[in-house]
Amino acid sequence: MAGIREEDIELIVRRVLSNLDLKNLKAAVKKDIGVFEDMKQAISAAKKAQKELKSMSIEFREKIIQNIRKKTLENARIMAEMGVQETGMGKVEHKVLKHELVARKTPGTEDIITTAWSGDKGLTLVEMGPWGVIGAITPSTNPSETVICNSIGMIAAGNSVVFNPHPGAVGVSNYAVRLINEAVVEAGGPPNLAVSVAKPTLETAEIMFKHPDINLLVATGGPGVVTAVLSTGKRAIGAGAGNPPVVVDETADIRKAAKDIVDGATFDNNLPCIAEKEVIAVNKVADELIYYMKQNGCYMASKEEIEELKAMVLQTRDGKYYLNRKWVGKDASTLLKGIGVDVDDKVRCIIFEATKDHPFVVEELMMPILGIIRAENVDEAIAIAVELEHGFRHSAHMHSKNVDNLTKFARAIDTAIFVKNAPSYAAIGFGGEGYCTFTIASRTGEGLTSARTFTKSRRCVLADGLSIR
Ligand code: NAD
Repeated sequence: MAGIREEDIELIVRRVLSNLDLKNLKAAVKKDIGVFEDMKQAISAAKKAQKELKSMSIEFREKIIQNIRKKTLENARIMAEMGVQETGMGKVEHKVLKHELVARKTPGTEDIITTAWSGDKGLTLVEMGPWGVIGAITPSTNPSETVICNSIGMIAAGNSVVFNPHPGAVGVSNYAVRLINEAVVEAGGPPNLAVSVAKPTLETAEIMFKHPDINLLVATGGPGVVTAVLSTGKRAIGAGAGNPPVVVDETADIRKAAKDIVDGATFDNNLPCIAEKEVIAVNKVADELIYYMKQNGCYMASKEEIEELKAMVLQTRDGKYYLNRKWVGKDASTLLKGIGVDVDDKVRCIIFEATKDHPFVVEELMMPILGIIRAENVDEAIAIAVELEHGFRHSAHMHSKNVDNLTKFARAIDTAIFVKNAPSYAAIGFGGEGYCTFTIASRTGEGLTSARTFTKSRRCVLADGLSIR
């Protein structure tokens, strides 16, 4: 077995086992449409489908989307189970909620609006038109959620979409692609408005990036893939990594802050890019915050336990830290068992007192482990939070009742998402107002994407007519 790493063997075994089990789960979606062996064939089928969609009414597009919503709700649990089984990450109950959220709150055709000017010189319209065929890369952390969310928005805007899903979540991602096709065809639409490949690789992604029929690229994932799409020379939307800090000042409702932080940070075992990844609390309230966090299912780890966890979940190469993927998205109790600490499943999160240079707060961990850093005052807390967000401009959160402090932090960190006095998931319409998305274009600035993000602007001018003012 020389040359094969132990973790690779483990990965292969896990995939084979999960594929065996997935065979039983696949029964719900019967039609095998939309998934191709060859990327070029997938693109060509999506191009044909987009042409057909273009000739159809917007009312009809909405009918298609309604059916995608319905089928997503019907299949929420099966996709949640498949996702956990295939990737080994996250929590089934939370993934069910994520699918329900995406089905109910991702905007459809109502998001496509027209701007008009009328006056002495006639009428001018700016309409939102489709790009054509969009190439999309999806992550392993919200695999089917992102496929469905992107498909709803992109189809509502009149596009078709070609996915190159994460290889580690190809089963559930392609299940979602098949489900979308079944929903579209059942509603009377053309097949292949959303397509994918059976074996996505970096090579199939490369073919997609370079293909002349792909007009827009959308990448949801870590820094590598976002940089890759931004380097293609094509128009690209980059929804990249985050490392969201949460600041707690002395004016906050500490009991509520503790509960909200633990709820947000443990949702789907900290996989969402928006989830609280480190806490910075002013000294005056830090002890009280820790007390209430413990009341909410947190385990306070000792220095020695944190060192052991560090050796287990992080690997170093060339002086840099890398995640040991085996532990990403695992339950807190599983992480603790990994270092020989036996706790029951009521433990939702591991907390510890950290300095601002601890790798667990510097790295985007995607595990229910939260470092708590003490700051002398709110200004110091804000400065530390800005440093730890690394300029990703993704998400940040704060618990405070002082409007000046809230404003100061919001301006200093300047992120696409800033949640005040709620769990992080309030940002995507879960316990907060507003629509849902699983593609937050932090790096390229579009923010929370929706159908209109996937359009291009078309100005139509009629001079000296059609104004009846
Ligand atoms: P990842 O970066 O490992 O993979 C994302 C996708 O990119 C996969 O499909 C992968 O195969 C592909 N990929 C990676 N490098 C590539 C390259 N050079 N060329 C072509 N394709 C490439 O992401 P993951 O671990 O599955 O997801 C977690 C990461 O994604 C975290 O950093 C998280 O913050 C981020 N994320 C961001 C958002 C957002 O909306 N901003 C949403 C979800 C996840």
